[in-house]
Amino acid sequence: MTIKNTEVPQKQTNSLVNSIENNIGILYIVATPIGNLGDITQRAIETLKQADKILAEDTRNTRKLLTHFGIQGNLQALHEHNEQQKIGLIKDYLDAGESIALVSDAGTPLISDPGYHLVNNLANAGYTITPIPGVSAIITALSIAGLPTNRFSFEGFLPAKSTGRDKMLQANAKEARTQVYYESCHRIIPTIQAMAKAFGDNRSVVLARELTKMYEQVFRGDLKSLQEWIVADPTHQKGEFVLMVAAYEEDDTNLEEITTTTEDLLKILIEELPIKQAASLAANITGQKKNALYRRAMALKEDGLR
Ligand code: SAM
Repeated sequence: MTIKNTEVPQKQTNSLVNSIENNIGILYIVATPIGNLGDITQRAIETLKQADKILAEDTRNTRKLLTHFGIQGNLQALHEHNEQQKIGLIKDYLDAGESIALVSDAGTPLISDPGYHLVNNLANAGYTITPIPGVSAIITALSIAGLPTNRFSFEGFLPAKSTGRDKMLQANAKEARTQVYYESCHRIIPTIQAMAKAFGDNRSVVLARELTKMYEQVFRGDLKSLQEWIVADPTHQKGEFVLMVAAYEEDDTNLEEITTTTEDLLKILIEELPIKQAASLAANITGQKKNALYRRAMALKEDGLR
């Protein structure tokens, strides 16, 4: 059965029309709530009602959701351990004209959830895949963080082992965009401690806990105060977390670290070269930070080489 969709954007229409004309089923990627059931969309309910099969990360969880909305639902499990093996079978269902809905335990499937292998394989094979959008913890958390969101870096879950985790945090220490991490109650304390080591106690963070649920809580501060806050009360450690880290900002003290010899060198170079090139060359010669030298060179230029 193909689900009627009167709001299909033009770009999708051709592949939808192809699917309908050839009686090939469509895979719907259906977002479900991250806590508050009131956040489900009307389209999600309609799609789940009409789907011939619903692929669920955990059928018991999804059964509860379906029961709440009075949906019968023909459920099949699709999780990280069987996803690759099930692709052939799902193609058979679609070839038989069945419509399939994919849901995860919470939020948008494929966002730190199963479904990537299936969607990648079906997309390459030319099947129609349609989103039924809704909630995702990352966007929900960013919307209330008060951190820049014009650019951000979604880091998902950190590696479980401390060596991998610390290596990744070290690599992210100078990230110039807001970073977003997912974390569970089991690792939230060690993760915050590791972040304080890698990013420094003063880095600003926002921790969003239990979003859209009864005990929703948001902490804003630096990593030092977050460490104090999280251990102060065991209830602060419960539930699900999105941890957002402010972008790295170069410390202005770098400017003071520039020696007189380096400054003299910069003065000579900016007389002969564009500022960017002069800063880059001075950084190569002295081993000092290019950004700091660039800013100093700009200041010198503005001062008219005084
Ligand atoms: N697919 C989901 C989405 O779209 O956000 C994410 C699934 S991932 C397996 C689960 C993680 O998402 C949790 O460990 C937590 O980091 C975050 N998360 C999910 N629901 C949340 C909530 N209500 N409040 C805070 N974080 C949440």
